[in-house]
Amino acid sequence: MSLHDEFDRQHLWHPYTSTLDPLPTYKVERAEGCKIYLEDGTALIDGMASWWCEIHGYNNPRLNSALTRQMEKVSHVMFGGLTHEPAIELGKKLLELAPESMNNIFYADSGSVATEVAMKMAVQARISKTGSHKATNFATIRSGYHGDTWNAMSVCDPVTGMHGAFGSALPVRYFAPQPTVRFGREWDPEDFQPMERLLREHADELAGVILEPIVQGAGGMWFYHPEYIRALRRVCSELGLYLIFDEVATGFWRTGRCFACEHAGVEPDIMTVGKGLTGGYMTMSAVLTNKQVADDISRGEAGVMMHGPTFMANPLACAVALESLKILSEQPMAERIAHISSMLERLMAPARRFDSVADVRILGAIGVIEMKEPVNVGEFQKECVKRGIWVRPFGRNVYVMPPYVISDDELTTLVSETLEIIR
Ligand SMILES: *Cc1c(COP(=O)(O)O)cnc(C)c1O
Repeated sequence: MSLHDEFDRQHLWHPYTSTLDPLPTYKVERAEGCKIYLEDGTALIDGMASWWCEIHGYNNPRLNSALTRQMEKVSHVMFGGLTHEPAIELGKKLLELAPESMNNIFYADSGSVATEVAMKMAVQARISKTGSHKATNFATIRSGYHGDTWNAMSVCDPVTGMHGAFGSALPVRYFAPQPTVRFGREWDPEDFQPMERLLREHADELAGVILEPIVQGAGGMWFYHPEYIRALRRVCSELGLYLIFDEVATGFWRTGRCFACEHAGVEPDIMTVGKGLTGGYMTMSAVLTNKQVADDISRGEAGVMMHGPTFMANPLACAVALESLKILSEQPMAERIAHISSMLERLMAPARRFDSVADVRILGAIGVIEMKEPVNVGEFQKECVKRGIWVRPFGRNVYVMPPYVISDDELTTLVSETLEIIR
């Protein structure tokens, strides 16, 4: 049986693909736990958690049941003028987990939309606070990724991001170099100097700073020193700039803490979460702010937060997200992630000696093998499917971030087969 579908090839866009020369796609019939089953019965151990999302595994009985229970009450209802228990209970749970100062929650559709909302919030709050319409730009660091919508693109890395295709159409942001001091190494205050200079020089043009704390995901799979965001927090507070942490990829224990900013012990003014929020069941994100930001926005010209998606706080998404967060709260997650981390460390270590490998780094349940040359994704994935694993490299990085429920055997197979392909 063919694993490729002709209609799919002719008519459906996939992420970042060409219609003239599409990369192969493999047709999935079902998925269970950490395994994806293709139409011909091939079982693949999922090393991607479907792009950071599927943290409790596929076809999870508790998430299924939360969803069906909610479906029988109400699947969707507008959030303008109406509210419901799943939104309220999810909000309570989010505030219980989030940094202490977080107080107000805006439910949005996806990680990219959360970035848009967070940036709009910072602009509205800053105009309200300064009374000037000048301080509306943003600073960020290179090699970041914040999503594919317009403003999100503008703060993605200008080289690996989409500035090549859209550059002249995008708002022009301020970019500081990527932090160079690694997580776990000795801090060097020099690393923060370029960002500090940039912020002091342009403070009167800026609404805030947006970045991914500690772990840069799709823009480079890079882990940097917590002291960087501690320094950033101090300077943003001093200059009155809003600090936005994009925790869309890092949130909900992926890095070994519930949120990556906990590694540094600092809190943002605005924070976005998404991806793992619903346990990978459907798209949903949330933007959290402290009371100061929320009140600054509300005291501004508009008097309200200027955003309101049609599917805001969709009850099905809220119900499944709430159940997902309950599952996380009931377990010793720090220990679980530490276990995955130490296994990744042990299993990936041999790759450090491969000639083709530039670097191997592990943080929490993320293992990255950086190659010296870009990887041919199509060829790599053909090998993966042959060997019963699912890994999708990006650029020079081959990485795994498995569902948290992966068994030791599955993880061992996943990583050893990945190493075999690299070798
Ligand atoms: C994936 C991602 C986004 C965008 O989320 P979507 O749901 O794909 O729109 C934003 N920020 C980070 C850090 C991400 O990893």
